[in-house]
Amino acid sequence: MEEIFIQTEEQRAILETVKKFVDDSILPRAAELDAKIKPEDGFSWEIIEEADKLGLRTMTLEEQYNGFGADSLTTAMVVEELAKGDLGISVVMAQTLKLAQIMDKALNDEQKARVLPEVASDPRCLLAIGITEPDNASNYFLPYPSSFRTTAEKTDGGWVVNGMKHFISNGNTARFYLLFVQTLKGVGLAEGSTCFLLERGHEGFSIGHVHDKMGERLANNAELIFQDCFIPDENVVGEPHKGFSVLANFFPQSNAYAGASITGVAEACFAKSEEWAKIRVQGGKPLIQHDGIRAQLAEMRMLIDASRSYIHRACWLADNQEHGWDKTLGALPKAMASQAAWKIATWTLEMHGGHGYMKEFGVAKLVRDAAAFLHSDGVNRTLFLKASNFMYDMPDYDQTEMPKAAE
Ligand SMILES: Cc1cc2nc3c(=O)[nH]c(=O)nc-3n(C[C@H](O)[C@H](O)[C@H](O)COP(=O)(O)OP(=O)(O)OC[C@H]3O[C@@H](n4cnc5c(N)ncnc54)[C@H](O)[C@@H]3O)c2cc1C
Repeated sequence: MEEIFIQTEEQRAILETVKKFVDDSILPRAAELDAKIKPEDGFSWEIIEEADKLGLRTMTLEEQYNGFGADSLTTAMVVEELAKGDLGISVVMAQTLKLAQIMDKALNDEQKARVLPEVASDPRCLLAIGITEPDNASNYFLPYPSSFRTTAEKTDGGWVVNGMKHFISNGNTARFYLLFVQTLKGVGLAEGSTCFLLERGHEGFSIGHVHDKMGERLANNAELIFQDCFIPDENVVGEPHKGFSVLANFFPQSNAYAGASITGVAEACFAKSEEWAKIRVQGGKPLIQHDGIRAQLAEMRMLIDASRSYIHRACWLADNQEHGWDKTLGALPKAMASQAAWKIATWTLEMHGGHGYMKEFGVAKLVRDAAAFLHSDGVNRTLFLKASNFMYDMPDYDQTEMPKAAE
C-alpha cells in the first residue's frame, strides 16, 4: 500500500481499514477455503458479513443507503487491496460495488426506492449481472450480430423469459441481478435485447450448476435458468430493446475494476517473490543479491505500477469524462493488468523453484488465481479487437462475414 499513489487522507484511511480486514479476516482463511472440493464450500458468508460491518459492501451507494458515494478511483483502490488477500473476495465485492453504482444511475426512481434500501440493509445482499450464455460470449463484447438465446415474449403487463446464462459471478449468492434478454427477434443482441432487474427466488428463475473453477475459488460462478419466468414491465431497466444502452452508458469503469482485482494478485505475487528472494540462499548468497533476480523484481514492479496507473486513469476519467475519456479505456486496462499479472505469477513460480510447485508455499493458488482475468470480463484478444474498432472507427462487425441473426 505504501507504494500506491494516494490522493487524499480519506482514501488512506479507507485503505488502512481494508488492509486490516485483509490481514485479520481474509488471509487466515483463504487457503483453507480455496482448498474446499465443492465450489459452494469455498464461499464464506462470514467474510461478506464482516466486510459489510466495515461499510465496504455498500460504499459506492449514497449516504441514505449506508454508503458514502465512493468514487471509481477509490473503489478500484479498495478492490485491489482486497485482492492482495484473495481474488475471489475482491471479485464478489467488486461485482456488488460496481452494480450498486450502476443501479444508482440506471434504475428509475420507483425501482431505486424498491431495491436500494434492500441492498443497504441486508448484510448478505450481493449483486450479479447475467449476460454470457453458452453460445454468446465474445459476441456481445464486440458485438457481433448474433441474438441471445435467452429470449422473452411480450405478454400482458410483462415478459415471459426462457433460456439460461452461465459463468455468472455471484450467480448463486446474489440477491439482485441485471439480466440481458433478447426481446426483439431477427436483430442482433445489441439492437434487440432488454435489461431486466430480477430478484433471486423469483418464480421461474432458478440456479443451475455452480461452476468448479481452477482459481478465484472464494467467489462462486453459476448458471441462471429461466423457465417461463414472468418479469413485470416495471422491472425493465432503461427502455425495452435498449439493453446495450445500459451497458454503454453506465459501465465505463467496469473493465478497470477487473484490472484492479487482478493487480492485487500481481501485488501478492510480488510480495511473495521479494520475501523468498531475501531468505532463499543459493550460490552462497540470498537470491536477491543475484543480479538477474533483482532485475526481475524491478520488472515486476514496473508492470504493476504501469497497470495501476492505467487503471487509475481510466477510473478517474470514467467519473470525469469531460477531461478526456476515450472508449479504449473501457477495454484495455484489464487486458494489460491481466497479462502483467499472468507474467508476474509465472515468474513468481519460477523464482520459487521446486518450492513454488509445492502447494504449501501458496504460490500455486496465486498462479491459478492469476489466470482468471485473461478471460473474465472479456477475453483479452476480444478486448483488443473492441478497442481497435474504437481507435479506427470501424463498424462493430463486418456484416458480409457474419451469419444473419437468428429469426
Ligand atoms: C471467472 C469468470 C467470471 C465471469 N463472470 C461473468 C459475469 O459475472 N457475468 C457474465 O455475463 N459473464 C461472466 N463471465 C463470462 C466472460 O465474460 C466470458 O467467459 C468471456 O467473455 C469469454 O467467453 P467464452 O469463454 O465463451 O469465450 P469465447 O467467446 O468462446 O472465445 C474463445 C476464444 O475465441 C476468441 N475469439 C472470439 N471471438 C473472436 C473474434 N471475433 N476474433 C478473434 N478471436 C475471437 C477469444 O478471444 C477466445 O480466445 C465470466 C467468466 C469467467 C471466466
